[in-house]
Amino acid sequence: MTQACDIAVVGAGPVGGTLALALAARGRKVLLVDKADLKPMENPDFDGRAYAIAHGCKPLLQEAGLWERLPFAPCPILDIDVTDGKPGRAPSPLKLHFDHKAVGDDPFGWIIEARSVRVALNAALAESNVIVRAPAEALVSRHAESAIVQVADERFEAKLVVAAEGRQSPLRNQAGISVTRLPYKQTAVIFAVAHEVPHKNVALEHFLPGGPFAVLPMTGTAEYPNISAIVFTESDTNAKLLYGMDDAGLLRAVQARLGNRLGRLELAGRRWLYPLYAMYAARYYDTRLALAGDAAHGVHPIAGQGLNLGLRDAAVLLDLAGAAEDPGAESVLRAYQAKQRPINMAMLLGMDVLDRLFSNNSPPVRLVRDLGLAAVERMPRLKQRFMLAAMGR
Ligand SMILES: Cc1cc2nc3c(=O)[nH]c(=O)nc-3n(C[C@H](O)[C@H](O)[C@H](O)COP(=O)(O)OP(=O)(O)OC[C@H]3O[C@@H](n4cnc5c(N)ncnc54)[C@H](O)[C@@H]3O)c2cc1C
Repeated sequence: MTQACDIAVVGAGPVGGTLALALAARGRKVLLVDKADLKPMENPDFDGRAYAIAHGCKPLLQEAGLWERLPFAPCPILDIDVTDGKPGRAPSPLKLHFDHKAVGDDPFGWIIEARSVRVALNAALAESNVIVRAPAEALVSRHAESAIVQVADERFEAKLVVAAEGRQSPLRNQAGISVTRLPYKQTAVIFAVAHEVPHKNVALEHFLPGGPFAVLPMTGTAEYPNISAIVFTESDTNAKLLYGMDDAGLLRAVQARLGNRLGRLELAGRRWLYPLYAMYAARYYDTRLALAGDAAHGVHPIAGQGLNLGLRDAAVLLDLAGAAEDPGAESVLRAYQAKQRPINMAMLLGMDVLDRLFSNNSPPVRLVRDLGLAAVERMPRLKQRFMLAAMGR
């Protein structure tokens, strides 16, 4: 027997899971398939990974019923410091300082632990009308009028299939949509540090020739009352060395870049290694198929925008496909691509230029960018524009 549904979402990561929940909340019949097991994770261990979620993405997370289910409070980002640095030196006093009060009372966004998002997704899915199949494989065949999704011995017919399977996206490959990859020859080492001095909700982006070094404020836990996530980007070789260092060595490398800003440091949770590359798909749709999130694009994590772009894809698909009589009609998919692809490409290029400009140690380039930082610091209107963009407004 074939079961009819409106939309099949393949990939229950933060983008696919959020989209499925929000579509179901708007009354759509949704199938969600993930190849991985969506474990309940009642007591997940602190794992040191976190997302920066822009202010503009909160309404979607609320509509999906996720925001109020986050088990660990999101940490508001109230101020952002941007500094240019030299290897082994603490941030210079010549910095750009963004204060959220310059654009209102709202924070720029929040740092949310990755485990918190997973727990909220699983809890919300368990209570929703979404038909969840995981761990399972979706075999998809697409036709002019609908798509057939075979999951083990169950057969579903959907008007639209959304590929939200992350960067490797088998559905994107099956549709013959080509992908361009821009390698950075940089790898990010991700971990968390507990510290002596409170972070006061300030995020730091310290630009260094090897790559950006970001310190993101997190909500304290009983074990670690003051804690921050570190995204330590370096050349591939140096990142592997950092990853393999003993705790004392890694902390010395952090302290050399951070100075005494946060006092005494201690590692919390484990380390993660992410080789970095940007990528973009040539198209965002094919017959009865839409790409969303990392399946469609990947940006340098320099400004923590990757997931935010994916959530905005989900918000636009929700508005267009969620309301359409035929959610997989070509006109809907064309409108989705026309709205999202240019915005995502602009963000990808912006992050690329930022990384290339700041991962450069030549004295003239350093001088120009230091003068640039100092000039922007004195331009309140331009700073406001940057701040609103960071908030996703
Ligand atoms: C170092 C680093 C730091 C980052 N920091 C930030 C940040 O601070 N803020 C931010 O906004 N973003 C950040 N990002 C980006 C962010 O992690 C991604 O953009 C985000 O995870 C994408 O979500 P997604 O749901 O599209 O894909 P994924 O998170 O990759 O989820 C894909 C899902 O699809 C499933 N899947 C895969 N293949 C199949 C298949 N064949 N069938 C069924 N299911 C399948 C997987 O099991 C998974 O559940 C960072 C990225 C990196 C590398």
